[in-house]
Amino acid sequence: MPIIDGRAIASRRREALREEVARLAESGITPTIAPIIVGDDPSARLYYRAKGRLARELGIGYAGIELPAQVSQEELLRKIDDLNNDPHIDGIFVEMPLPKHISRDAVARSVSPDKDVDGITPLSLGTLIVASASAESYRQLQETAGEALPATAHAVMEILLEEGVQLAGANVVVVGDSLSVGKPLSLLMLTEQATVTVCHIRTRSLKQHTKSADVLCVAVGHPNLITPSMVKKGAVVIDIGINATEDGVVGDVDYEGVAPLAGLITPVPGGVGPMTTTMIMQHVVARASHRA
Ligand code: NAP
Repeated sequence: MPIIDGRAIASRRREALREEVARLAESGITPTIAPIIVGDDPSARLYYRAKGRLARELGIGYAGIELPAQVSQEELLRKIDDLNNDPHIDGIFVEMPLPKHISRDAVARSVSPDKDVDGITPLSLGTLIVASASAESYRQLQETAGEALPATAHAVMEILLEEGVQLAGANVVVVGDSLSVGKPLSLLMLTEQATVTVCHIRTRSLKQHTKSADVLCVAVGHPNLITPSMVKKGAVVIDIGINATEDGVVGDVDYEGVAPLAGLITPVPGGVGPMTTTMIMQHVVARASHRA
């Protein structure tokens, strides 16, 4: 049962990032990220802290902002605007989920596209669509618009390429069609000429689709959604889900059941997660390099 070691892949990338940060320091530039957390959602807090740890480990500046759950949308947008205008900040990252009285769309529109390190702004998403239509390959797109890509989708593509997974002509099934993960991932898969099926909550007979997948990517947030009978023998299974349960953090795939038949599989934790935070930092460093 070959397991994809996301931590090992991330660790190699982090080494390269450390070197890039040291090079930028010689020009007097410290790449700096400003994550913003609103309220006390446990998963948002987890991601917020993880960014702080990784930034410190890589020598990246960290200007985290913590706001109470009752903060008004206007106040949040004002903070984002201050960061947009702060020349020392290279990347702004707003942790999700936000409290119900704050519009995710308004927040996404308020971040300056030059400081968007998770592909949330309309311009970043538009760039992804245009670049995916014109790029000859994912690598070419990555070189021209890499720092504007949604970090999780970017992480999945990097993992698959690093593992040498052949995507051209493969049946790729993406379960979950969110703007932050499923939709951008589907577009990136098309740049590699995969045949892509996107499934969502209204998909009839999910199993019929997942069973045909050569590469199955799952981003739903539902433990054990994917069981062994839904997976083709030898398939590459990328579990993006992160779910806090009584047994600890698990993904969306029944790992014990599916792993013996998968050709390759990502564990949770230790699969996509470490690469996602790494890609966020890679985007921050790339933005800082433009500043240099
Ligand atoms: P989201 O915005 O809630 O989207 C979930 C998607 O799953 C939606 O498209 C939804 O469809 C679909 N869905 C829900 N139930 C389904 C079902 N029974 N069958 C098929 N599709 C179903 O969540 P997200 O932000 O994309 O995150 C998804 C998961 O990935 C979460 O567990 C999150 O924590 C995790 N995540 C992990 C990383 C990482 O680095 N590993 C990064 C980001 C997110 P509808 O839109 O039609 O309702």
